[in-house]
Amino acid sequence: MAKTKASDTKLAVENTAEETKVTSKKSTPSSEKKEISVEDKLRALYRLQTIDSEIDRIRTIRGELPLEVQDLEDEVVGLETRINNFTEELNGLEDQVMAKKNQIKDSQALITKYEEQQGKVRNNREYDSLTKEIEFQGLEIQLAEKKAKEFRVQIDQKSVFVDKAKGDLEERKADLAAKKAELDDIVAETQKDEEKLITKSEAAYSIIETRLQYAYKRLRSNARNGLAVVTVQRDACGGCFNQIPPQRQLDIRTRKKIIVCEYCGRILVDPEIETADAAIEAVV
Ligand SMILES: [Zn+2]
Repeated sequence: MAKTKASDTKLAVENTAEETKVTSKKSTPSSEKKEISVEDKLRALYRLQTIDSEIDRIRTIRGELPLEVQDLEDEVVGLETRINNFTEELNGLEDQVMAKKNQIKDSQALITKYEEQQGKVRNNREYDSLTKEIEFQGLEIQLAEKKAKEFRVQIDQKSVFVDKAKGDLEERKADLAAKKAELDDIVAETQKDEEKLITKSEAAYSIIETRLQYAYKRLRSNARNGLAVVTVQRDACGGCFNQIPPQRQLDIRTRKKIIVCEYCGRILVDPEIETADAAIEAVV
């Protein structure tokens, strides 16, 4: 652990405008073992950030998939319920059509019976009475036919919905199976990577001096993208994208001081400190 004088290590990450001098110019060869150069500190911080960003990325990927699977499961249940309801309604309508058909048969039987009776009547009054009954049953048949027709129209309309819902259900079920498989794969695959990365992150974190650890943690928890250490990108801070003056950029490139962004307070490093590829390689 590097033990520098408080006056030398004035890391004011909270005070974003201040620069930090962690240089240890006076370090003698005998103390070299204990002293870590600023450049090494910056490199360690950047490596820690790279590892932690990779952990964040894994968690983000996995974080959304269970929700997608849940959504699809809900959708499948919803469609199944809708199909069941429609099917019940269809059965009810079929029953009603059947009831009307039976009613028509009954009326037709009555008409046949009344017509036979008309052949055996003894007076006009009885004949007229039967005629009225036959007329009434005839109207009943017409009404029942009209109703049955209406039910059939409803059956046709509902059948279209049922077919559509069944098609949707098959699609969603296929989507769900695919997403579930994807989730299982990712969980199996990322768990190992994540555990490895956590171990690496802890190792990288432990070699950083305490005050920088706190600064890093605080910055990371405050930043929405979890970035505490950023590179200079196109003359701007890689975290908040505010411009960095040329002199400040030069200071960053010399790697003799820990410099924070005067706008967002993130620790700034030059992009060449360690290529992302090399950092990732060191991670995995
Ligand atoms: Zn910034």
